[in-house]
Amino acid sequence: MTGFRRETSDILRELDALRAADAPTHGGHVLSYVYDSGLDELDELAGRAARRVQPVNGLDPTTFGSVAAMERDVVGFARRVLGGADDGDGADGLGGFGGAPSAQREVVVGSVTSGGTESCLLAVKTARDAWRAARIGSPRMPRIVAPVTVHAAFHKAAHYFGLELDLVPVDPATGTLAPSAIEERLGDDVALVVVSAPSYPFASLDPVADVAAITAARGIWLHVDACIGGFALAFWPDALPAWDFSVPGVTSISADLHKYGYAPKGASVLLTRGRDRQRRQYFATTGWPGYPVVNPTMTGSKPAGPLAAAWAIIEALGTEGFRDLTAQAARATAELRSAIDGIEGLRVVGEPTGPLLAVAADEEAPVASRVDPHHWADAARSAGWQLQLQPGLVQSDGSRLPHTTHLTVTPVTEQVLPGLIGALVAAADEVRGIPQIDGRAALAGLVAALPGEFGGALAAGDPEELAAFAASIDADSAAGVLAAAGLLGGEGALPDQLAPVLALVEALPGPLTERLLVELLARVVEPPAAG
Ligand SMILES: *Cc1c(COP(=O)(O)O)cnc(C)c1O
Repeated sequence: MTGFRRETSDILRELDALRAADAPTHGGHVLSYVYDSGLDELDELAGRAARRVQPVNGLDPTTFGSVAAMERDVVGFARRVLGGADDGDGADGLGGFGGAPSAQREVVVGSVTSGGTESCLLAVKTARDAWRAARIGSPRMPRIVAPVTVHAAFHKAAHYFGLELDLVPVDPATGTLAPSAIEERLGDDVALVVVSAPSYPFASLDPVADVAAITAARGIWLHVDACIGGFALAFWPDALPAWDFSVPGVTSISADLHKYGYAPKGASVLLTRGRDRQRRQYFATTGWPGYPVVNPTMTGSKPAGPLAAAWAIIEALGTEGFRDLTAQAARATAELRSAIDGIEGLRVVGEPTGPLLAVAADEEAPVASRVDPHHWADAARSAGWQLQLQPGLVQSDGSRLPHTTHLTVTPVTEQVLPGLIGALVAAADEVRGIPQIDGRAALAGLVAALPGEFGGALAAGDPEELAAFAASIDADSAAGVLAAAGLLGGEGALPDQLAPVLALVEALPGPLTERLLVELLARVVEPPAAG
């Protein structure tokens, strides 16, 4: 037998030490990224299920029948809870498309993917391929129409697959979308409209039924991105406007198993109404001398672990278990919301739907009692609670979406509510009256610290010149800019105060910020230079 170079216990001790420095994944102190059911046995079950299929290749469900069986079960569950199946028997999903004759029953089918981004990418690719197939020879670039609050995964999809992303402004105070704003943008070049249930930035539930009536009448596909909220809204204790496959005209839905499905990362579902729509999602080729390739998703070889974990969790919880966990998250969200409503100088943005919300400064409060949400998040972080800072954004109509702080609430949040609320109140008291950081001032400081050529481009402020500069800047120059801003040097650790970083993100032109952030992330995982 081959001997190991190191003791396994020693290797695992090293990993444990690395993990100890991570943000805590359990216990409700991190209010984004992690979705904690609070049930240790559920995590244990998921881990054991994943371990059982560790050597399996999910690429081929005909060779590994366990993959096919689990995927059928998971898709069947998702379709049932997302309004895509007759109750109970898992039969054909009902609801014709665009007022089609009732004889045209379109079954809802689906795939398990590696995550929300892959589900969203595939929804776009599939719609693009259908649009193209109907317009062979069209030189036009197809368009996606979506509210500006749509997840960045759709920016990525447009970029990867060659579509234009046409972002529709939302109400800057509440984040809500007017269906007429979507209608005005529709045309023959639109391959897909996307709405969210709810949106990540503001937790706004887009008006799915109204938009669906508009798109269906024109035969345009409508994707509902329920990546974050799908498996929570499906079990939400309060009545909600219809947003799932019960709405005719909804052609696909993405919902992440690794969010409110409580599965480990690497699992999401993409459901599509109609086999003929969904088959365009597949890629198949026999045009090489190897095995025939037939891939429903973007990966080739793929792990079965996240699927097995998600499957086991669904088997363990069932509808009742999901309902209980969702009720915990819903109660915690309502309590948090009323606590934040009671904090002078802050306001919850719009009408959040589901277990998440965004918080902005209350512009109606006197300046001296306003609370900047980014200073607030920094203060909460130093007390051990990690909230997520979101930058402000100027929409295409010139209106400005406020900068906010995001909170994702999970079932475990309910167990830590008194501590969390106390910390949020104390953090607000600590920073009340401290104005939002002026990014332009920070920018001026940065310009002054830079070598002339870069400072010149920044100071000029001309968008085209800056975009060209961002495109031309090399890796070492980008690192130099980051160092001048005090953002490079540590072992990938973020600075204690994130508000100044976000202020710079808001003030710098997009293409330059994006290039600098690429450099920052790339250097975080770069091995040290060979000595
Ligand atoms: C998380 C999320 C995504 C992307 O999902 P990943 O699993 O992070 O790839 C897409 N849309 C929404 C609304 C999300 O919250």
